[in-house]
Amino acid sequence: MENELLTPTGSEKLIQMGSNENSPTIDNDLGSHLLTQNKNSNVKIWLADLTHTNSRIISNHMPYGTACVAAFTEKYINMENPIRLFKYPEKLSAALENDGIPDIIGFSNFIWNSQLSLDYAKRIKKMSPKTIIIFGGPHYYLIPAEQEKFLRDNPQIDFYIPKEAEIGFANLITFLINSDLDKSKVKDNLQSVHSIGENGKVFLTDEAPRIKNLTSVPSPYTTGKLDEFFDGVLLPVIQTNRGCPFLCTFCDEGVTSLNKVNRRERWQIDAELEYIAKKLSRLPKDQRGDYLRIADSNFGMYKEDQITCETIAKCIKKYGWPTQIEVDTGKNDQKKVLKASEIVGGILSLNGSVQSLDEDVMKNMKRENISSEGLMQIALSAKKADTPTVSQLILCLPGETKQSHFNSIFKIIDASFTHVTIFQLGIEPGAEMFTPSDKERFGLKGRYRVMAECIGKYELFNEKFTVGELEEICYETDSMTFDDYLSCRKMNLIISTFYNNFSLYWGSDTSRPFFDGILKFLLSQNIVISKWMKLLHEEKIEGELLDVFNAFEKASRDELWENKEEIKNFIHDSTVFEKYHNGSLGYNLQNSFRILLLTRYIKPLKDFTHKTLLKLLKENGKDSLENIAFVNDLLEFETSRIKNISKDIDQIPEITLEYDILKFKDDEKAASVKDYKLSKPVTVKFVLDEMQKNTIKKTIGKEGVNKLNGIGNITKASSGSNERSKDILRMLQSHN
Ligand code: SF4
Repeated sequence: MENELLTPTGSEKLIQMGSNENSPTIDNDLGSHLLTQNKNSNVKIWLADLTHTNSRIISNHMPYGTACVAAFTEKYINMENPIRLFKYPEKLSAALENDGIPDIIGFSNFIWNSQLSLDYAKRIKKMSPKTIIIFGGPHYYLIPAEQEKFLRDNPQIDFYIPKEAEIGFANLITFLINSDLDKSKVKDNLQSVHSIGENGKVFLTDEAPRIKNLTSVPSPYTTGKLDEFFDGVLLPVIQTNRGCPFLCTFCDEGVTSLNKVNRRERWQIDAELEYIAKKLSRLPKDQRGDYLRIADSNFGMYKEDQITCETIAKCIKKYGWPTQIEVDTGKNDQKKVLKASEIVGGILSLNGSVQSLDEDVMKNMKRENISSEGLMQIALSAKKADTPTVSQLILCLPGETKQSHFNSIFKIIDASFTHVTIFQLGIEPGAEMFTPSDKERFGLKGRYRVMAECIGKYELFNEKFTVGELEEICYETDSMTFDDYLSCRKMNLIISTFYNNFSLYWGSDTSRPFFDGILKFLLSQNIVISKWMKLLHEEKIEGELLDVFNAFEKASRDELWENKEEIKNFIHDSTVFEKYHNGSLGYNLQNSFRILLLTRYIKPLKDFTHKTLLKLLKENGKDSLENIAFVNDLLEFETSRIKNISKDIDQIPEITLEYDILKFKDDEKAASVKDYKLSKPVTVKFVLDEMQKNTIKKTIGKEGVNKLNGIGNITKASSGSNERSKDILRMLQSHN
């Protein structure tokens, strides 16, 4: 038989043959799922996990997933040429043009790089029809009919490997080597390999079994596969386990086949962390980065995670890295999560991702086995330890109403989460919620928009081309009208402006809410913060501030397109593309409008804030003359800090205060208002030191393409000819 499956004996042979890592254990039955290689090969294989690079590096993580596939394949298959990895499209173009097109090239397929990968693949296929093109990644459909349509719509793809890719990819490569790269021989004879055969027949085979012991996948760090990506730009990622015990239907991981959690062994995790820390410590100081991404789905929820944290703590002590850990923390067993955070000195982002607190909505998205009470507790416990906490919500979930969405926001804020991130519901093809039957069941309706900054101009084989990633956003359901959705978007902007952390001045590590003094004052008066957020949403907005909110609503409406082909054509028009490219279109609306409010419109924002605070104090019987005078000083202080930023950064704002606002803000526990009364008024100047000025300039340079530059362009671009947003742009310009 040309491609026989390995017997257990074969498995032993295979480990001896290809092992390039000293792994003490291995999946006992892994070998039985891998094909025997019966020919040596000098096949050239490349793998690309591309990112858009035009405004900045959009996916700034090392290509860990593709590197795992490469390391696994190299371990189990004898090949003369190591697999080459690519992250930057420009480097891939140069290699294709200068080094020749490989025999086989694979692309990762995520929402942020799908079209980029497809467009590269199309050009490679045209230039070299014999090159075999393989795709893999979560941006792929669940339902066979939709999988087939995707493959037929994209004939540049020869094979698609769904879900966990290592076994499917390695077997496909072995089969192709054994078949002298005759791809027509791949039919329904390989698990986890989808294709349209030469006679037009579709082959959608079952998934290959998952790897039980992830240590069977060599570390792409210690094997050196990721060495070239320590470039001072990309950030390291590790994954200590794969799979998730929950079944959230909006998530591509919430499927039964990924329900079991498989792990790496301790020695491998420790070796990886030590390797990364040592490698980073050899880079020049300004290129090291301070960040680690752990790609587990529920970090901290398992006892093994505490041991991982102990290793990280050793790295911090020895190498000063990492100083930040980004991770999705466990949804249950919060005590363990908090313990893990404590071990690494609180640098773990504590995440209470509830998505919704409405019981019916939780049932609709199959999250009823996640304890929302437990997730809420994390905020209280973290508050005691003075650790920042983030909670996430998703707008427009099945069965969610405007009121239930607001209720979730208010509960989270009053539970003391320090930051509330509200996502829009992206319709991801790989998740159960977006299968045709579920969409129909809940009346989910989607429209398309360009993903913020995921658009760029590239060049391959002397041809320039533009690529933009589209995402489908749910804007209406049976329980939420489009007007409700827009009203929720307004609430989201209010939360982000008045409650969430803001880091233009301070840098992300020390960021705090812009109105943190006001929030502290309200709590000291026993007024729950949600009451203020509700009032800010309900209160009549007038004048130029109304123009900004109207512009935000219009932009939220207009960014969504019903027809996918229309928006595709729109962004490929060269003048329109330039606007996306330079940031005058396609910026993140919420971030941009928040900064617009807090800089250019700070004066009307201050007046509006004042109005709501007086009303709130009155409604709660706290409107004593002393409280009102204190709030006046406090608001003057908060808003004066930033009023020079959008005009002249060297100008020094100056105010006179009757209360010691700085002491109030510094005090761990607020005293009575009368205790802050000064014996005589003082003048306060807001002087930025060079470091602060540089921080602001750096923010403008780095994030400002998205934020400030975007805002600048809102006002500049009103002369634009035919883009849909021109009315918004004109409206804002008239106030500058
Ligand atoms: S807990 Fe997280 S990773 Fe797991 S299914 Fe839910 S959203 Fe996905």
